[in-house]
Amino acid sequence: MIRVAVNGYNVIGRRVADAVSAQKDMELVGVAKTRPDYKAVIALKKGYKVFAADEKGRRSFQEFGMACSGLSRDMVELSDIVVDATPDEVGVANKAMYSELGKNAIFQGGEEPDIAGLSFVAQCNYEKARGHKFVRVVSCNTTTLCRVLNALDQSFGVEKARVVIARRAADPDEFKKGPIDAVVLDPATIPSHHGPDVNTVLPHFPVISMALKIPTTHMHLHSLIVTVKDKSVNDSKVIDKLRKTPRLMFVDSGKDGFKSTANVIDYARELGRPRNDLYESVVWKDSIKAIDNEIYFFMAVDQEAIVIPENIDAIRAMMGKESREQSMKMTDKSLGITAPAL
Ligand code: NAD
Repeated sequence: MIRVAVNGYNVIGRRVADAVSAQKDMELVGVAKTRPDYKAVIALKKGYKVFAADEKGRRSFQEFGMACSGLSRDMVELSDIVVDATPDEVGVANKAMYSELGKNAIFQGGEEPDIAGLSFVAQCNYEKARGHKFVRVVSCNTTTLCRVLNALDQSFGVEKARVVIARRAADPDEFKKGPIDAVVLDPATIPSHHGPDVNTVLPHFPVISMALKIPTTHMHLHSLIVTVKDKSVNDSKVIDKLRKTPRLMFVDSGKDGFKSTANVIDYARELGRPRNDLYESVVWKDSIKAIDNEIYFFMAVDQEAIVIPENIDAIRAMMGKESREQSMKMTDKSLGITAPAL
């Protein structure tokens, strides 16, 4: 059993903790939180050990009469590997503790790429994680871009990719960030950080990205134009390739009625997914168009969920013996990722 600690317990940490608990080859040592709240109550009800980030936090747990198993440092000591799911740039401060205690760690996409020796997306570079002490699972937008661009590159040879990303302004529980009544250039300068971030995983073709924030909380929407070397590319070849790509789900605006991201999230509810989570990249099948050697399509990403399978595979890639195919299969089965064909 691989003993896994989850440091930071909110959007990503809660989901990673549940996913770790669902793996037969992993044991959840516990989760670390800054303060006691309803999320800590639920973690305790699930049987998770809850640790405090610091002494102040531990005192708050005591004041609220809530069980606290120690400090995050104690949790890290008990583990083989830590998934750090603290807010952007807190992970880099925690790295010193992981190093001092000789522990492996996985960081998230909000950290700078140089925090770890490898930026990770399972289907692109699983094998490279073996032997790394520190790995960074890239952000939600970078993960979905890497999945589809890697697939298109394998079949058609990507020359250049361009993407416009309409980003959700805040996660559903981030009430302090909203509401906004604006479309915010994020940033106005080009490229946004997403294209260069894709190049930390797939360095061999340019990816130019532009981003803006829109007043929604569920899902980002990508508009892609991908130039490929294979001039014989056509719509059906692209559909065929993406249909076979792991962790990708097709939706259709016509026959299936997916007119918006609202329909996609509603569909996740109908599937009975925990928290409506969609781990798959969601591509509008009827948007796929190849004109000359350029491929156009729309893709949505559930920002809260897409990196969860990647974190689980990163743990195995660093600590386990499984091949990429075996690990992805185990992860997908445990999370119910069956990408129902519509
Ligand atoms: P979050 O702010 O929702 O959760 C982080 C939690 O960690 C908070 O509860 C915070 O109180 C806690 N925390 C702060 N300092 C801590 C410490 N020292 N020890 C323990 N806990 C601490 O953040 P998130 O959205 O889950 O993001 C985590 C990471 O994942 C970031 O790098 C982010 O960029 C990345 N990410 C986020 C999303 C998303 O859509 N939210 C998607 C992909 C990747």
